[in-house]
Amino acid sequence: MTRTFFVGGNWKCNSTVKSITELCASWKESTDNGAKYSGKPVEIVIAPPSIYAQTAKDALPANFQVSLQDCYSSTGAFTGEIAADMIVDMGIPWVITGHSERRTIFKETDEVVATKTAYAISKGLSVIACIGELLEEREAGKTLEVNERQLSAIAATVTDWSKVVIAYEPVWAIGTGKVATPEQAQEVHAALRAWLSTNVNPEVAESTRIIYGGSVKPANANELAGQADIDGFLVGGASLKPDFISVIDSYA
Ligand code: PEP
Repeated sequence: MTRTFFVGGNWKCNSTVKSITELCASWKESTDNGAKYSGKPVEIVIAPPSIYAQTAKDALPANFQVSLQDCYSSTGAFTGEIAADMIVDMGIPWVITGHSERRTIFKETDEVVATKTAYAISKGLSVIACIGELLEEREAGKTLEVNERQLSAIAATVTDWSKVVIAYEPVWAIGTGKVATPEQAQEVHAALRAWLSTNVNPEVAESTRIIYGGSVKPANANELAGQADIDGFLVGGASLKPDFISVIDSYA
């Protein structure tokens, strides 16, 4: 089974109409409207701040999809939230759940992340579900325990694995410039795939993309992409730059 390489760009709480227009124009120029790359299939998904979703959708190269960075698991009296239903209604196919900034700054628990993930899938969205350990958890030897706990909460509610991409993002590597070594990342990705095989089933383990996030940039993407269980990336800071195209082109 071949897993199509997947590259996500998470713009977080950055961008303006002007910066989006300029960045997308540069991507279009270097990719002949998104058609060229290295000629191999790659799924590309960009997550702008929600208010700029339509701006990005209009400006991105034709084969770039759009995602939101989070969603809520209900419509109704929830001021400030955006329900998964609305994301679908706007023709946006993807959403990120459980990003470490949602977990740490906004105190989202494993259960909240699992509920959002299940709800988004039930409405027809595909989900980039994020997990990852803190530095102190890694230093305490708890890397696999933490990632398996977070994955297990998500897995318990997933009904359609074809709609899920797992993003392993060690929190100590996000926005810090400290990238996990290819060996460190591969070790966790292989363990997560083994966990899926044992606890969901071998077919899901084989077909589910497990992508890496944490200070990925053009200079380190190739080596990471060469690891057997790294099926792509979720990229923050480097996805706000013209040379993000080299990350998209990084797989062998
Ligand atoms: C992210 O926001 O998911 C991320 C990995 O950020 P960065 O690439 O900037 O570390």
